[in-house]
Amino acid sequence: MSLRRRPRLLRPTGRPVSVEISFTKLRVYRECPWKYQLQFVAGWRIPLTPAGSLGLSLHRALECFHRKGSPSEEDLWACYESRWLSAGYVDEKVRESWRGKGKRILERYLADERDRRTVIEAVEREFVYPLGRHEVRGMIDRIDRHPDGKLEVIDYKTSGDGERLAPRDELQLRFYGLGCREALAKEPDLLTLCFVAAGRRVTAPYDPSGEAELKTMIVAAADRIEAAKFPPETSFCPNCDFRKCCAYSVAKD
Ligand code: SF4
Repeated sequence: MSLRRRPRLLRPTGRPVSVEISFTKLRVYRECPWKYQLQFVAGWRIPLTPAGSLGLSLHRALECFHRKGSPSEEDLWACYESRWLSAGYVDEKVRESWRGKGKRILERYLADERDRRTVIEAVEREFVYPLGRHEVRGMIDRIDRHPDGKLEVIDYKTSGDGERLAPRDELQLRFYGLGCREALAKEPDLLTLCFVAAGRRVTAPYDPSGEAELKTMIVAAADRIEAAKFPPETSFCPNCDFRKCCAYSVAKD
């Protein structure tokens, strides 16, 4: 397999960016550095599953829907139709079954949305900021302003029910909260994971006291990526997408 390298990015200062790190890259590196190597250096692809494909379709439909000024229900169905991804399903019957599931998820989302009194300030808002020699990037699904002035950073989750937040979910919220402050110069008050399939929102206040620790974690991971330190972390193998074909896997069966 060929190793494809992107051309090195330059900052406005002319200094090269060492590592571009997103939440997904940070998460994967923390799960298993060797998995990071396979996915982001060697270019191994994770096969698209029905759940993954539907998740992409829902994200795309919601982006389309909320980019319209005052969207109607018809707009939502038009967006779902136009942003639907047909890949990832074994046949038409399975595809239609998942399409129906997505429609039911969006019906409930729309009902919940009617009760919200917030104003949407941004949809799919990218952030980029320098951190040491590195560059941190991300995409916030949605930023809402509440009637009392509070700012809410929202990320859609299309899997899981949100009954109990995994550590990686909490880390993701902190990552986006920090990105909002550092790159967008907006002070987030609330961080929310919206589990659209379960119709549940989990919201926590933003705590800036953890920022220094989070920055240290991001820089440490980026430094190790830059130094090509990719030891396998086999405790993650049972949950790894590459467990069947990775040479170090201890969970091939
Ligand atoms: S199978 Fe195990 S060792 Fe291999 S990439 Fe996945 S977690 Fe890492």
